[in-house]
This record gives sequence, C-alpha cells and structure tokens, in this order.
Amino acid sequence: MDCGLYELHGQHPASADGAVVMIDWCPAVPRTERVRVRDYTCDCRPIVYELCQAGGLRFIRRISRPNGRLVVEESRWSTSAVIDTLWGELLRGEAR
Ligand SMILES: [Zn+2]
Repeated sequence: MDCGLYELHGQHPASADGAVVMIDWCPAVPRTERVRVRDYTCDCRPIVYELCQAGGLRFIRRISRPNGRLVVEESRWSTSAVIDTLWGELLRGEAR
C-alpha cells in the first residue's frame, strides 16, 4: 500500500512478518519531560510509530486505533544509539 504522499508524510515501514526483534511495548504513562518527535511513520497506516526524544533519552511510540480507541504504547527508554538502531530495524521490518 502506498498513499502517494511519501514526500509529505512519514516513511512506510517494511512488512514485519519476518521480524526477529520483538519490542516490548508498554502502555504510555504521562511523564514530566517534554517529548520531541524526531521522526515518524506515515499515518496512512493503521499503526503509526514515532521516534521520540525526552531529555537525554529516546524511545519509540506506537499509536494504534483498535475499534476506534486510541492506544499509545512506548518502547523502553534508552540512549540515542540504542533507540536509533531499533528505529532503523523497525523501518526495515526487522523489529516490531
Ligand atoms: Zn502513507
């Protein structure tokens, strides 16, 4: 599927059917840190991922809407090196 808006919107992650890295998604909890979204995937897909930074740490946010209900989950928080690697794996369909 391609919405044709690749230039304007986020990236389309590859199919994760063969993913080898399983991300431990946890329900997002409100935090005091200001979160900046550094990258994101296209919202034409049912699940949107955001690469987030808060303070000196990064994490990936997963946003889905099962049955119209907004569900926001987060990966673990870690250093930019660790999370940027995970983000790349997610986009290549190697993690989910
Ligand atoms: Zn799209």
